[in-house]
Amino acid sequence: MVRGQWGGAGEIGHMSVDYHGRTCICGGIGCLEEYASGTSISKRMNELLLAEAAYDAARDGPVDTRETVKRWLLGDPVAGRVMNEAFEALGTAISSLSHLFNPELVVIGGGLAEVGEPVLRRIEGETRKKTMPSFFPERGIQLAANGNRSAMIGAAMQLWV
Ligand SMILES: [Zn+2]
Repeated sequence: MVRGQWGGAGEIGHMSVDYHGRTCICGGIGCLEEYASGTSISKRMNELLLAEAAYDAARDGPVDTRETVKRWLLGDPVAGRVMNEAFEALGTAISSLSHLFNPELVVIGGGLAEVGEPVLRRIEGETRKKTMPSFFPERGIQLAANGNRSAMIGAAMQLWV
């Protein structure tokens, strides 16, 4: 386990995936969570919808992350743009982590993991594009069995070790 000097290691949400990218609340540029967090997915979806003349925010209301994912799965092009960006960002981050740590297996938790196969296929594809073949995890990328509860379970496990 890599903990870092005060326990902050593994804060991949603030790992930059685009040094010309969006400014993050942390002060960094192009942080992963600016593209792939639930908050950023719905924020970006609503920005793109507002840019469309046909969309009336007052009438149609904001679209949340769950609805964005649902629309992506149904083939909606705007949701597709938002999700492509999230998958590209995740692939970039996992590729960098693979080159840095050379893991045997990568496990994805969080809300997106609960969507299942379509998410896994896209993340795996984007990671393969950017990773040297010998560094791609031998056992591949898998979705956490406990989905969005995985981080909490992992944190709780730290109390027992
Ligand atoms: Zn950040």
